[in-house]
Amino acid sequence: MRPEVLNPLFAPVTILPEVGPVLARRLERLGITRVRDLLFHLPTGFLRTRLADRLADVTPGERASLAVTVVGRTPAQGRAPARLEVVDTQGQPLSLAFFGPQADRLAGRHGVGTRLRVTGTVELFQGRPRMVHPDTAPPQAPVPTVEPVHPLTEGLSRRQMARLVGHALERVPRLPEWIEPAQRQRQGWPDFAQALRRVHADPDAQAARDRLAYDELLAGQLAWALVRRQARQRRGRPIVGDGRILAAVRTRLPFTLTAAQERALAEILNDLAGEAAMLRLLQGDVGSGKTLVAALAMAATVEAGAQAALLAPTELLARQHRATLEALFQGTPVRVGCLTGREAGRPFLLRAVAEGGIDVLVGTHAIFQDSVVYRDLGLVVIDEQHRFGVAQRLMLQRKAWVPPHVLVMTATPIPRTLALARFGHTAVSVLDEKPPGRTPVDTRIIALGRLEEVVAGVGRHLARGHQAYWVCPALDRETEGLAEPAVRRAEMLRARWPGRVELVHGRMAAAQREAAMDRFRRGEARVLVATTVIEVGVDVPAASLMVVEQAERFGLAQLHQLRGRVGRGGGPATCLLLVGDHPGEIARERLALLRATDDGFAIAEADLRLRGTGELLGTRQAGEPAFRLASDVQVHRWIGAAEADARLLIERDGGLDGPRGEAARVLLHLFEKDAAVRTLRSG
Ligand code: ADP
Ligand code: MG
Repeated sequence: MRPEVLNPLFAPVTILPEVGPVLARRLERLGITRVRDLLFHLPTGFLRTRLADRLADVTPGERASLAVTVVGRTPAQGRAPARLEVVDTQGQPLSLAFFGPQADRLAGRHGVGTRLRVTGTVELFQGRPRMVHPDTAPPQAPVPTVEPVHPLTEGLSRRQMARLVGHALERVPRLPEWIEPAQRQRQGWPDFAQALRRVHADPDAQAARDRLAYDELLAGQLAWALVRRQARQRRGRPIVGDGRILAAVRTRLPFTLTAAQERALAEILNDLAGEAAMLRLLQGDVGSGKTLVAALAMAATVEAGAQAALLAPTELLARQHRATLEALFQGTPVRVGCLTGREAGRPFLLRAVAEGGIDVLVGTHAIFQDSVVYRDLGLVVIDEQHRFGVAQRLMLQRKAWVPPHVLVMTATPIPRTLALARFGHTAVSVLDEKPPGRTPVDTRIIALGRLEEVVAGVGRHLARGHQAYWVCPALDRETEGLAEPAVRRAEMLRARWPGRVELVHGRMAAAQREAAMDRFRRGEARVLVATTVIEVGVDVPAASLMVVEQAERFGLAQLHQLRGRVGRGGGPATCLLLVGDHPGEIARERLALLRATDDGFAIAEADLRLRGTGELLGTRQAGEPAFRLASDVQVHRWIGAAEADARLLIERDGGLDGPRGEAARVLLHLFEKDAAVRTLRSG
């Protein structure tokens, strides 16, 4: 049960002034349903406005607020905007431009001679100062000089969002302090409520931002520590086979394992043989042979008389894994089943899993539904892209007599610190060596202005009988309105190559998405326009070209992973990174790094460093962030301290009963680690 003191934070947003059902639905699009979600919806930047007396004090490109007098008006004409001509207090002219269907109405509100305060960005147009769509107000109206900019959605303005956050801030209760007083003092951190108020109002509130990041990390590390303790109390089961099946699978392979694969396998088998339940990451670039290592670990598990399960992110990938495993286990006693939620023979399959007629069950999250009972689940392998956290780990611990061993496969090279933060743990096996015969992907950076040339190049590629991926960033409502960039691009490419272009993006129905990918995989479609990595997580050897649009908006590790999708067919492969006209110094440097090296780890580390030096508010990674308040750079900086702190706290007060323990419980609930708190009772 959640402590009562948190009730105001977990109340629905509809209790706030202004928030009715319509607004609530808009907020929900941003993942905001409760007061707490609004508080955790941090600004991505701040808008600064200079209060200027004279136009002469303002530099072009700067946002400013000026007192002016209207001296003339020109209605909109064709593509020319409606204009209000004004002068500042010195008589210097400034033109206010209004575009679109409302232009004349907006400009027409103010007659000649009216005195106004106008706020907007001053730019030079044909050599003369102008403001496009300025805010207008009476001359004496107060103008904020610093305003937060929160991520927005259609139908929710910046000012409105700031007001809503303000309402939410008024409801923050006094909470007990969970950070050790000495630590707080040393860092000069404000208390939780103050920190929240500052991060929403003050661009320079680094201490406040750090404190909140630390809170989030501490909650995560406490939760992991509790889960680990519970697993230890329940002793894992050592898995030791006699080597028969493993040997049979290995001798039938048409190649030998790389040294990195041998090393990873030995590390995993060693963990499996131990008493404690394993939690290990298996990291390696796409194509480095993770699946094979995992398959051998599963073979060893079956050899020891237990079952294994492999969790895939999509049905298509589940079926692909099933086919791979069946081929590998051919001629051995290992029986593979696949459960994705829509099999006809489901009752039969479930009985086989319960009775041990199936040794390895592959599937989507359906394989962990309550209705699926394992006879003896010894090892769970989790393929990349899955949200794996405390709650999942606890769920697995309930799925078996003893907590099963867990192996998480990931192609995203996660630096040690981030692995610790996300998985509460740093046992990592790395496949840092590619199977022989892979050629590095020829990566080039091209300005978006040369789009026509790029399309022509793709055309030549298709004419040679190859296939291509075209990746677009997912929709950013703030800047792009409602049309998904991938949708627009697919339309354009379809006009060019009718019937040969498929589209997949995150907001399509899963079945539709998989059908589109199937068509690409079978070669019926020749170009696949896609948003993120999830959608291109399919092995298509004939696809040897990838175009990534607005590459500067992707994380480097993500781009590296994306390009790993091409070049699996043995021949040369190319990745074209299209960048906007002004990607910025850091973006350019980051992309150049990608072009220069093929080492996923070097890329991830350097990316973190580059972002660390140049990190502005709001340069979070694209894709689903692991944390809501802590940026990667903050994780890097604070995770060690949070981990040590959590460990110490649990050592001293295992039941979290003392005063600081009570506060820590509040913290755990605040970050929705309820499952971890429940271990306190069961443990
Ligand atoms: P990952 O899961 O890391 O993306 P996969 O396990 O899918 O990589 O391996 C990619 C391809 O390389 C597969 O076709 C696999 O059979 C092959 N492969 C794996 N290990 C080796 C090896 N040691 N030598 C040659 N080919 C290998
Ligand atoms: Mg794979």
